[in-house]
Amino acid sequence: MNRIRLLVLNAALGPLDYRLPDGVGAPAGSVVIAPLGPRKVTGIVWDESRLPGEDIAFERLRPIVEVLPVPPLPAALRRLIEWTADYYCAPLASVARMALSSGGALGGPATMTEYRLSGGLPERMTAQRLAAIEALEGEQGTIRELAGIAGVSGGVLRGLVNQGVIEPVTVAIDRPYPPADPDHAPPDLSPEQSTVAARLIDAVRAGAFAPFLLDGVTGSGKTETYFEPVAETIRSGKQVLVLLPEIALTENFLARFAARFGAPPVLWHSSLKSTERRRAWRAIADGSAQVVVGARSALFLPYADLGLIVVDEAHEVSFKQDDGVRYNARDVSVMRARFEGVPVVLASATPALESLHMAEIGVYEKLELPSRFGGASLPKVRLVNLTEEKPGSQRWLARPLVDALRERLEKGEQSLLFLNRRGYAPLTLCRNCGHRFKCPSCSAWLVEHRLSARLACHHCGFETRVPDACPECGESDCLVACGPGVERIADEVRDLFPQARIALATSDTLNTPERAAEFIAQAEGKAIDIIIGTQLVTKGFHFPELTLVGVVDADLGLEGGDLRAAERTYSQVAQVAGRAGRGAKPGEVLIQTRHPDAPVIAALADGDRDAFYAAETQGRRDAGAPPFGRWAAIILSSEDEREAREAAVRLGDVRPRLEGVQILGPAPAPLALLRGRYRYRFLVNARRSANLQGVLRDWIASVNFAPGVRVGVDVDPYSF
Ligand code: ADP
Ligand code: ZN
Repeated sequence: MNRIRLLVLNAALGPLDYRLPDGVGAPAGSVVIAPLGPRKVTGIVWDESRLPGEDIAFERLRPIVEVLPVPPLPAALRRLIEWTADYYCAPLASVARMALSSGGALGGPATMTEYRLSGGLPERMTAQRLAAIEALEGEQGTIRELAGIAGVSGGVLRGLVNQGVIEPVTVAIDRPYPPADPDHAPPDLSPEQSTVAARLIDAVRAGAFAPFLLDGVTGSGKTETYFEPVAETIRSGKQVLVLLPEIALTENFLARFAARFGAPPVLWHSSLKSTERRRAWRAIADGSAQVVVGARSALFLPYADLGLIVVDEAHEVSFKQDDGVRYNARDVSVMRARFEGVPVVLASATPALESLHMAEIGVYEKLELPSRFGGASLPKVRLVNLTEEKPGSQRWLARPLVDALRERLEKGEQSLLFLNRRGYAPLTLCRNCGHRFKCPSCSAWLVEHRLSARLACHHCGFETRVPDACPECGESDCLVACGPGVERIADEVRDLFPQARIALATSDTLNTPERAAEFIAQAEGKAIDIIIGTQLVTKGFHFPELTLVGVVDADLGLEGGDLRAAERTYSQVAQVAGRAGRGAKPGEVLIQTRHPDAPVIAALADGDRDAFYAAETQGRRDAGAPPFGRWAAIILSSEDEREAREAAVRLGDVRPRLEGVQILGPAPAPLALLRGRYRYRFLVNARRSANLQGVLRDWIASVNFAPGVRVGVDVDPYSF
């Protein structure tokens, strides 16, 4: 009998020792079921020397129940879990749960549903249906896989399922994925792209840790270029992880992937069905999943033999998880590559300042794609000064932008209006008594969504019908919408150009992969004249006919004094501007602003990225902000306002006073009430040389908080 130490997947418990029955093997990383009191819990066998625990007499140890039939979590992943927990001040068990995908990957049914042709024909044959039926001869797979093979949307295939032309079949979960062929359809790379691809292929062959910053302008073909080292990794029999932001909306990427490799990649994201999740997890763990395309949570999966990591749109804010374990997938991916000893590629047209800094000091190798593929030029940028060109009352588009839209309509070209605000109006109030609609559980206004006739909180998801009368004074017809959201811009455009074909592109309207695919098909097929969208449309889309981008309010993101406001504004506007003029026709960008002289707006107008980064670098240096110093936030919250405030005062009373560490607060957090919890916040600014995590841990551990108090630590916060 042996003693083993378990990391129990229950954050409240420390490591526990168990006994391993004779003849049972459970090397480090094994996933086991063990008794805990009257219950059974899941645990991971951990390297004893790395996990301090209590020394309990061997005779008192209880034996484990069983070792689950999955490969042990590899050592590199165990090191990553330890590093992440340590760096982000999170419980080891919370990080480890991500590796097991909350346990969901292990249990569940043993079969799933796939589809194939039944031999029948549809009542109404269309060209698209005929092409799909021909392409699917002899194929079987999930709807998504078949859609990838047939090159049609999932909606087309579901239509055929309803008519019995495609029939469901029950198969075992562990069925293999269709293989990706590295030589299916290699592109002709430009000389610029070839040089970068060759360097990355070398790095894959070398098989050692090597971080790259792939810095290429919008439309330079970063994807085509990094597909080459992906192909090389597939040839070598190793696995690839490609991280994308907003994985649910990546139909376009998946289509390009399937065109290049002849099969779709293995997908990983939070809304996978449990059967798909289990199938993917097991294929990743046994090494049969060749290329995994996933959201940030795919970083913690147990790849059997990882050979390459790519983080696309690496500047994206959504790589930062802002509840639970508050990690930044961009940074963790570099650590994973280091523990695995493989190359990692961070691709972006507007890299985070931190990433550029790492390249500058020689830690990352910078690879550049300075021009657009196929000779397309970067769009011309023009500022519209809203203090001079005032839109009419209850209007948001100034004359130059309206004229530019009209010109595009007359020429039959496409335009895109960008405003990073969902809904109709960000604030609704009563004209009669001044009542403002507020969320009952957050300190936030309710946002009117006219399409769904609802008022919604964008923080907690609370929704209510737009009432007929004011709830305070009882007056009817007295509610006024204040300020614009995209729905309101759409109304204005409809008024101006009744004949234009308009599409709203937000997470409300494109909330399923099918809807996103339909939108993309329409936009590509010139069935839309004017796209009106939120940050969703800044990402990766390639619409050849799009020649005008209008930024409705470039100042929006600059309000609020957030550390990264300027950087976020720069990358958002530059990315959305990058959607213009990607095809044969040149593009133009109009930016509406009240602050044409602000450095970030001026840099956007001049297309002078270096000037922006230089000014931003200086500002960060002066403020001791990343990458020159470090920030962390501590959020104390409770459902009881007084309890939260008292906890904050007590923690404040014992604040450490250390050289190189500055502590601000406590103060009510910017969202002082969130999901019914009152929140107080400390901000900690530390020199790079200080042991920030050590300071935070010791400080928090020195106070015994009331049971209703939650303590959240955010290392390298994105916004505060
Ligand atoms: P980025 O991600 O750098 O903005 P994309 O990868 O979206 O750029 O490429 C822009 C467009 O150019 C896409 O439609 C892409 O398919 C096309 N493209 C890029 N490189 C090539 C190539 N070598 N051969 C054919 N098409 C290419
Ligand atoms: Zn709310």
